[in-house]
Amino acid sequence: MAKNMKEVACSFCGIRKQDALMLIAGDGAHICDRCITQASEILTEEMNLRKSKALQTTLKLIRPIEIKEHLDQYVIGQDDAKKVMAVSVYNHYKRLNQKVDKDEIEIEKSNIIMVGETGTGKTLLAKTIAKILNVPFCICDATVLTEAGYVGEDVESILTRLLQAADYDVAAAERGIIYIDEIDKIARKSDNPSITRDVSGEGVQQALLKILEGTIVNVPPQGGRKHPDQKMIAVNTNNILFICGGAFDGIQKKIANRLRTQTIGYKVNKEDTEIDTNNLYKYITPQDLKNYGLIPELIGRLPVLTYLNPLDKNTLLNILTEPKNALIKQYKKLFDYEGVELKFEEDVFRFIVDKADEFKLGARGLRSICEAIMLDAMFEIPSAKNRNEQKELYISLEYAKHKFEKSDLKKLKAA
Ligand code: ADP
Repeated sequence: MAKNMKEVACSFCGIRKQDALMLIAGDGAHICDRCITQASEILTEEMNLRKSKALQTTLKLIRPIEIKEHLDQYVIGQDDAKKVMAVSVYNHYKRLNQKVDKDEIEIEKSNIIMVGETGTGKTLLAKTIAKILNVPFCICDATVLTEAGYVGEDVESILTRLLQAADYDVAAAERGIIYIDEIDKIARKSDNPSITRDVSGEGVQQALLKILEGTIVNVPPQGGRKHPDQKMIAVNTNNILFICGGAFDGIQKKIANRLRTQTIGYKVNKEDTEIDTNNLYKYITPQDLKNYGLIPELIGRLPVLTYLNPLDKNTLLNILTEPKNALIKQYKKLFDYEGVELKFEEDVFRFIVDKADEFKLGARGLRSICEAIMLDAMFEIPSAKNRNEQKELYISLEYAKHKFEKSDLKKLKAA
């Protein structure tokens, strides 16, 4: 018996039972703990390889017109931005799919910068594009970034977010999309390079350069500051598409000035002189971004520049009811779960739009106003006494006005 025990060994590496931490018996064979660990590592590696190969083949090219059609389902208006985005995203992924021969012309990365008032759909556009392409997507805010070594987040932290969005699948993250919001907030504070360092402005712009262009970055998987003992994950940003967005408050003035000086002294034809003063964003050029305080190197790495139109009342009305997941459709669904059909008097939509227009928050205001109107009903209906009898809720203009007047939003406006 004792002799038999001695002879039991790992069938893979031959280690004897008494020398191993654990030996698991199978049908006529044994495997030790170390071989199990090793086999598991080989398996993980192989699975990752297969996954990234699969990713390579499944990243199907969606043509610009199809991309725009998808966008149309979720984003109202903004046709110029949609077109520009569709083309540059298509080109970006075409670049990823092509097999690069040595002598072939290399297509450069087409990172995008979007300029437009708050709440006009910049984030929504970026988010929707990522959804169409089925690639990892994350949003980060440029205002929290600071130069390495200062209080705030290192620029690498944006890659941590993407990794998290990709469930730590590095291959997937390396083809993802990062939306950097409020890029205008890291504009250089003044034209005059002063003695005090601009750690949250120009410093961050400098730090972003390499990442935007494409480099291998060691990313702390859990975020936070880099720590010498922390295990890092290497992420290649070469194929990550960066989309930046910002309101660039006050840039209209700079654009207007430029347009004015351009028209003076030139004999321009009549068409050229008709400038849409309500939407100066559409005349934006990289030069304006530079005047605003973005450094030329950063502008150069965001070669696709597009703009979003301010939302007029008709567009706001469409946003409220038309998109696939329009706010009104969402509320209807919520009540549907309660077995109640939600109906609106047509004028309620106009009322919501008028208020949103007053708030100057773009489409974002629509949500808060709807909440103010619907809150009481959403609170009371689930536990109403006549719960089973109530099959319909009709929101009249009078009801909407009453609920709005009662809400904190009204006070906000008064203040
Ligand atoms: P920002 O331009 O500030 O990034 P967002 O994209 O975050 O604005 O828009 C805020 C919200 O307003 C979105 O969640 C979306 O519901 C709505 N919205 C804004 N613009 C549009 C639009 N053009 N079409 C549909 N919904 C929009």
